[in-house]
Amino acid sequence: DPWQNEDDVVRGTNDDATISRMSAATLGYIDDPYVRFFVKKPIRRPPIINRGSYIRYQALNHVVQRFLQSGDASSKKQIVSLGAGFDTRYFLLKAGKIPVSGVNFKYFEIDFPEMIAKKASIIRRRTELATMLDSPTVGMCSGNAERGGMELGSADYALIGGDLRHWDNIADRLAYHGFQSDAPTLFISECVLIYLAPEDSQNILKWITENTQSCLFLLYEQILPDDAFGKVMIRNLKLRNIELKGIHAYPTLDTQVQRFKQLSWHDVHAVDINTLHDHPSSQEEMKRISQLELLDELEEWRLLAAHYCVALASKSANEGVSEIKL
Ligand code: SAM
Repeated sequence: DPWQNEDDVVRGTNDDATISRMSAATLGYIDDPYVRFFVKKPIRRPPIINRGSYIRYQALNHVVQRFLQSGDASSKKQIVSLGAGFDTRYFLLKAGKIPVSGVNFKYFEIDFPEMIAKKASIIRRRTELATMLDSPTVGMCSGNAERGGMELGSADYALIGGDLRHWDNIADRLAYHGFQSDAPTLFISECVLIYLAPEDSQNILKWITENTQSCLFLLYEQILPDDAFGKVMIRNLKLRNIELKGIHAYPTLDTQVQRFKQLSWHDVHAVDINTLHDHPSSQEEMKRISQLELLDELEEWRLLAAHYCVALASKSANEGVSEIKL
């Protein structure tokens, strides 16, 4: 579509992510009863994509759960999801699908105002979702009223509209919605920083480094753009005008680790999806998902899984959060 600008294309990547989660939920890989509210036209994904969605879902939710349960349960913890799109994790936590009973937390989600407006409107229309919110309030995003940029706030949930490339503005919105720099915080980037130029993503990490006390960063994104599979992956995205701006700056597990080490973060690990797949926390679960669909493209699966990394970084050593491992 010649009328689509670069940002529209990036926003469109959220549809892919949501449709893949819906496919995995429908087939029984993951237990997400809420994703369907965000999908207009479901598409069944091939087995290797569903398996990838499963591993990603398990790995990230495991960290979220461990983080929320770490330290003193009654002390407030924060999660900030950068480029959250139509992620449903907040609702999974509220419904006990990711069990963390009795934990005091606030969940912030950031995305472009257009995305946040859409998400807020879906949430308000769906009783199943709306009733999970605790005294919600609605407001305009700064500067985007004419584009219908509606934010949504509640006691433990805030949807914030803004552009990650203008982080100062986002930092103001976070503060407005009650972000506390002294509360332990988990930042999540699930296929997001990779769309930003390296200077923009490092600018965000630098702000986090300088403005929070105890924090973790959980990152999931593509790596290895230069081997044969990686080149095809990049070319297929280019055909859809999608550019992974960050991938050449952080092309390997080691460079992903270094982006945090450079800022003197204390503890950083990065693994690919093959490693997570080959060391499951539950053999029974692996048996269960292997019975859902036949996965006969094992070689293709291994190649695909080698091109996605999960990194977990902890800024400081003293808060107990650095004990969380992937
Ligand atoms: N994290 C979600 C998930 O994993 O399902 C969505 C991932 S989607 C591939 C990338 C998301 O990042 C989109 O929702 C997009 O709008 C958002 N995004 C990308 N660049 C952004 C920017 N500069 N400012 C705000 N959001 C951005």
